[in-house]
Amino acid sequence: MASYQAVAFDLFDTLVDFDIKLFPVVEIDGKEEKTTSKAAYDALYEGGFLVPNYPAFHQLWLQNSKEVWGERNNDPELKEVRSIVRFRRLIELLVAIPAQDRERAAKTALNAHMYGIENSVVFDRGRLDMLGRIKDAGLPVALLSNFDHAPTAVRIIDRMGITPYLDTVHISEDEGFRKPAASLFLKVAEELGVAPGEVLFVGDTFDADVTGPQSVGMPCAWLNRKGAPVPEGCKPPDFEIRDVQDTLSILGL
Ligand SMILES: [Mg+2]
Repeated sequence: MASYQAVAFDLFDTLVDFDIKLFPVVEIDGKEEKTTSKAAYDALYEGGFLVPNYPAFHQLWLQNSKEVWGERNNDPELKEVRSIVRFRRLIELLVAIPAQDRERAAKTALNAHMYGIENSVVFDRGRLDMLGRIKDAGLPVALLSNFDHAPTAVRIIDRMGITPYLDTVHISEDEGFRKPAASLFLKVAEELGVAPGEVLFVGDTFDADVTGPQSVGMPCAWLNRKGAPVPEGCKPPDFEIRDVQDTLSILGL
């Protein structure tokens, strides 16, 4: 067995989980949709901002998401788009809001959206025992997450009691780049004070959490709950696990 000197985890759907049942539901054209757009709309409306009716707002919301995520996902440099940038662009589409109110409107919509995201996250507290056992074995632990609003990610790990187990935390909003950017994995290893080949990376998204560490020679465990096939043409991960707690057996703990 390789001897690992540190462990790094992805956050969403690895250490903590999104529970889709907790995500806000809105009826649009007779169909139920899971979206935070209504929460953002309500916050803007109640804040006295000039917004169109909700169906029109939702269309602009979809347009904004498609544009921003489309640009981000096609960026070969893997730059992150900060949440506030996305919301400033949404507010630009709401032409009735005067220029001097736009920044405040963007923050209002952002906060309502993030509140919905944060309240859809659940945590299996048994995972704190796993983190404790890793720490007791003397291995430092890092978190490396793609997320466009670092304060929300930090609040989530605080609320779940995870923060004391982490030696270093990296959120893509703060880093400026998203996984699978090689620089992020190198930085994590450097901050943990070990070589990339001595870190075990654990995450659920193949491209971000398997291709990324592989690019710097960092061993990885793919959390593949549903037993999906390795994407065609991709190198398989070093390990495949169905439960994040299986990390312990890889480490021999
Ligand atoms: Mg994830």
